[in-house]
This record gives sequence, C-alpha cells and structure tokens, in this order.
Amino acid sequence: MFQSLAGRSVIVTGASKGIGRGIALRFAAAGCGVLVVSRKLAEAEAVVAEITAAGGRARAHAADVSEPEHTAAMAAAALTAFGRLDILCANAGIFPAARLGEMTAADFDQVIGTNLKGTFLSVTACLAAMKARNTGRIILTSSITGPVTGFPGWAHYGASKAGQLGFMRTAAIELAPFGITVNAVLPGNIITEGLLGMGEDYVRGMEAAVPMRRLGTVADIANAALYFASDEAAYVTGQSLIIDGGQILPESQAALG
Ligand code: NAP
Repeated sequence: MFQSLAGRSVIVTGASKGIGRGIALRFAAAGCGVLVVSRKLAEAEAVVAEITAAGGRARAHAADVSEPEHTAAMAAAALTAFGRLDILCANAGIFPAARLGEMTAADFDQVIGTNLKGTFLSVTACLAAMKARNTGRIILTSSITGPVTGFPGWAHYGASKAGQLGFMRTAAIELAPFGITVNAVLPGNIITEGLLGMGEDYVRGMEAAVPMRRLGTVADIANAALYFASDEAAYVTGQSLIIDGGQILPESQAALG
C-alpha cells in the first residue's frame, strides 16, 4: 500500500534509547540511512551496531540539541554520511519532575532548552538541505502531557510539549511552499528506559488508566512517525496524532469499568 522509503535519509534525535531508538530501528528496516543522534556517542554507536547487524545503514553522531553549533553539525553529518537529508525526527527530550514551589528557574530552562528550543534548533538546522530539494518531512515527538493532559511535577515539561505544537503550526505554514511537512506524534505512556525510571508504582498506575490495559511500545510510535514520513502523507501537515491506547478518553475512573 505504501511507497517504499528506501534510500531516504533520516536524522533521529534522542535515538540512543527509548522511543528514538525505536524510530531509528523502524526507519532503518524501511531502508533509510539513519543518523543516530544523542549526547553520548558510545550509546548512539550501540544502536548503529544493532542496525548494521540487521543489514541496515546508520551512523552515530554526538550532539546536544540545545546547542545551535551542535544541531548545525548534526545536519552536516547527515549530508556527509548519506548525501541527502529527507526526514527529521526531532525526538530528544527529558522529563525530570519538580512540583511548583520546588521547581527552579534552572529546572525550567533545562526542560524548555532541550525539549522546545532543541526542537527549534533541530528543525532550523535541517531546512537548507530540505529546501534545496523542495521536499522534506519533519516529525516532532510531543506528548499527551501538556497538549491534552497534566501530571504533577511536569508543569515545565507540559509547557515544552504544548509549545512544540504551537511551533509546529506556524512552521507548517512557513514550510509548505517548500514541500516540507511538519507533524507531531503524541505518545501516551510508552515503555522506555526513561519511563521505567519513574518506578513500579507509576508504571502500574498508568497501565490501569489505559483502556487497552497496557503501556505502548516504541514500535507503536515509530509506525506513526513512518506514516508522517511517507509519500502518502504528502498533503498532511501541521497535524498531531495521539498514540495512547485510549488513555485520554475516560471521563472518570468509572468509565474504565
Ligand atoms: P529516554 O528513554 O529517556 O531517551 C531520551 C533520549 O534523548 C536519549 O537518547 C537521550 O540520550 C536523548 N537526549 C536527552 N537530552 C538530549 C539532548 N540535550 N540532546 C540530544 N539528545 C538528548 O526518553 P523516551 O521516553 O524515549 O522519550 C523520548 C521522547 O518521547 C521525548 O521527547 C519525550 O518527551 C517523549 N515522550 C515519551 C513518553 C514515554 O512514555 N516514554 C511519552 C510521551 C512523550 P543522551 O542522554 O545520550 O543524550
């Protein structure tokens, strides 16, 4: 049904683990050359080893997405490695918790700097290469937290994730004349190293709150990202897709039966 993405080139930020790793593996399996980006090179290299062992093409690149020189070098590295840049998955994100009253200005800056400014810097670093070929696909990893829901300790995180969608809508308008689409995946609770780090109680509580009675997998998110990257999604821009097993649907605990 879908045209092949084989031969395309994709940058995935935050790809050393979790959702980003899942996106990197999925795009590599679809035949894309993948630039695996995280701050820790050794961890990015481990994902590259996994991809190449499975017959795929990938390179590791160390970058902090909150630093403009790093994101510029990241885009250049994709062009050097694969000769083209078709797709950006701006996925890198952090979610430290701090309740209001305890949250410092530095905490707020760190989360906004990585999640929101990092999105802006990653996107703008890739534009010249995409505009030159009059085509491109940009997929942001936002969240249900912020755009739709809230959770104690994540006021800064929710603001960063809602902010990504505000950024996306204007970016989609500005980039449409260049054949570049900008869309977002909004994961619910997905089994990743980061989420498991929230602890057993958090995980069990979230499972009970999901109508499908399970947490999501990184493949659930990667498949949605793959759709936004496809030729068939060429006329879809500025949109967000919630992938949460129905988590935002119940009006109350009673609705879960
Ligand atoms: P994770 O397992 O903690 O992985 C985060 C990734 O981002 C790692 O590869 C990390 O590598 C990288 N990273 C962190 N800060 C970075 C920076 N400044 N520059 C470059 N890379 C950076 O997290 P995850 O759960 O997969 O989350 C990934 C994305 O999905 C985030 O945007 C998160 O907000 C979103 N999300 C996750 C869930 C969930 O349930 N897991 C739900 C909704 C949304 P290094 O530490 O080596 O840099």
